[in-house]
Amino acid sequence: MEKEKAIGIDLGTTYSCVGVWENGRVEIIVNDQGNRTTPSMVAFTAKERLVGDAAKFQISSNPLNTIFDVKRLIGRQFTDSSVQADMKLWPFRVVTQKNDKPMIQVRYKGEKKLFAPEEISSMVLMKMKTLAEQYLGSEVKNAVITVPAYFSDSQRKTTKDAGLFAGLNVMRIINEPTAAAFTYGFGRAKQEKKHILVFDLGGGTFDVSIIVVRICNFEVKAVGGEAHLGGEDFDNRMLAYCVQTFNRKYKTNLSRSAKALRRLRSECERAKRSLSSVVETVIDIDCLYEGHDFFLKIRRAKFEELNLDLFEQCMEVVKKCVEDAKLSKRQIDDIVLVGGSSRIPKVQEMVRDFFDGKELCRGVNPDEAVAYGAALEAAVLSKEDVHIDVMVDVTPLSLGIAVCGGVMHPVVPRNTPLPTRKKTSVTTPHDDQIAVSFQVYEGERPLVADNNLLGKFVLTGIPPAPAGVSSIKVCFQVDEDGILSVSAHDKGSGASNEITITNEGGRLSIHEIDKMVADAEKFHREDEEEREKHVAKNALECYVSNMRKRAMKAKSEGSMDADHHLISTITAVEEWLDDNSSATVVQLHDKLREVELKCLPLFSSKRFRFY
Ligand code: AMP
Repeated sequence: MEKEKAIGIDLGTTYSCVGVWENGRVEIIVNDQGNRTTPSMVAFTAKERLVGDAAKFQISSNPLNTIFDVKRLIGRQFTDSSVQADMKLWPFRVVTQKNDKPMIQVRYKGEKKLFAPEEISSMVLMKMKTLAEQYLGSEVKNAVITVPAYFSDSQRKTTKDAGLFAGLNVMRIINEPTAAAFTYGFGRAKQEKKHILVFDLGGGTFDVSIIVVRICNFEVKAVGGEAHLGGEDFDNRMLAYCVQTFNRKYKTNLSRSAKALRRLRSECERAKRSLSSVVETVIDIDCLYEGHDFFLKIRRAKFEELNLDLFEQCMEVVKKCVEDAKLSKRQIDDIVLVGGSSRIPKVQEMVRDFFDGKELCRGVNPDEAVAYGAALEAAVLSKEDVHIDVMVDVTPLSLGIAVCGGVMHPVVPRNTPLPTRKKTSVTTPHDDQIAVSFQVYEGERPLVADNNLLGKFVLTGIPPAPAGVSSIKVCFQVDEDGILSVSAHDKGSGASNEITITNEGGRLSIHEIDKMVADAEKFHREDEEEREKHVAKNALECYVSNMRKRAMKAKSEGSMDADHHLISTITAVEEWLDDNSSATVVQLHDKLREVELKCLPLFSSKRFRFY
């Protein structure tokens, strides 16, 4: 029986691409228009639903019901600042229903309809699945889908859901740059260990990864990027320039017409693409707005000037990523360009200049490299005869829990290869505590207040015991898709609870992650002092609170002979804590020692049988 084919899908912000392993190599599948990439667009009309090129062709006549950029919405909350900012640029409507989830509102077959972002993505995925089925002449069920390296758990999970809605068994979600590195490494002669930098500038996102490629093995060393930077931003700059030129000439406001804007935007995109191969082009649109035509000659130099700061932003990310990998520029052996926007000559020139004139790797097709790598991974997972190992991704930030009233206790260190499973033990800081609240964070700073909260859960049913006696095992598990589950298990009672991080607040953007790592370095000393202070204060607070509880209990049981002295000592320390919020670590330690000296004899004494 013939083996079931598994496909690799690059589900892009602007374009998607699908590949399959056939006859000992990956075939990129051509769509019904003869194109190797398909617009990630879905349109709703009075009669039908259109996906891909068909949706793109009719966008200017149906801008309110043609959905694109849905990857910017997937797995995010409606109130997310990036969603709010993006909504201002979209002609279609995004509304919110329950749970702050964004929903896309369209008119379809004469009726108002709401679609979740993953439903729209599933329509694109279904299109890619159908293309593959038509090409192979058989049903396709299994697929590997790619996502940007910094997609949060919630974005990954929702992408997986989109695959399920499309009738696919999602074998794995992999990072786009890693897929590109896979493509680069495939078929190369046995080679020395190499460091390659994948520069992936697509339509909506920018990713940089440094990957160590050994014989049949790939390991991500560092990742960086910008979740909101790509070809669409370059289109927007061109668009703003054209609108300004048009408005100035005709003393009007073209922005009032969504249709005119859409027509102009698609001409700007076309012009931008041609400026990658010619130095001058024209934008020529009949009857654009209020009966006026638009004609503009635009030179490559003007396009570069309009976007220079964005290109420079890309180079900053590259610089940071090389530093993060603890490598020098000279140690990067190859630079692989991925994503349609990496064809822009100025971008290539800046990358080349940054690496002191190093030639860029040209063997990989920028538009197809990600789908090619995904198809390779799909072939490996479905045990085709491909001689290459599965790749390894890493955690971009440390993952941990809050302890001692606000100190970060890292469990999975930053840049740990995936999948991973790490354990730690915690105990109850208070006497007779029957529940523990776990707060899961990502970040590099010693105090959780400076890190990013991913989720919370409570473990209940812990048998009452003195502080420090219960032993609770906490396990962090991050799967190959980068999805995090945290579980807690109390050995004594067998009580357990867990969460899979659904990431209500959204994980950090690449920019924020970079900032967090930089801040961690910058504030290292101050942070350490703060952490020590926090730990010392927490220890003192816990101690006095436990002592008070024990004293009260003993008193109520009549086993403490009105030892008012102890209670007044505890009260005095509590007051001291209130009055000395800025006490130093030394003062806090001294205070703890002082109160311990007073309490210890009482608690070691047989008179107090508290446990
Ligand atoms: P991707 O998401 O990798 O498919 O990249 C799509 C983006 O690449 C879109 O913004 C395209 O406009 C852009 N693009 C494709 N080809 C070119 C080109 N030749 N020059 C500049 N940008 C391009």
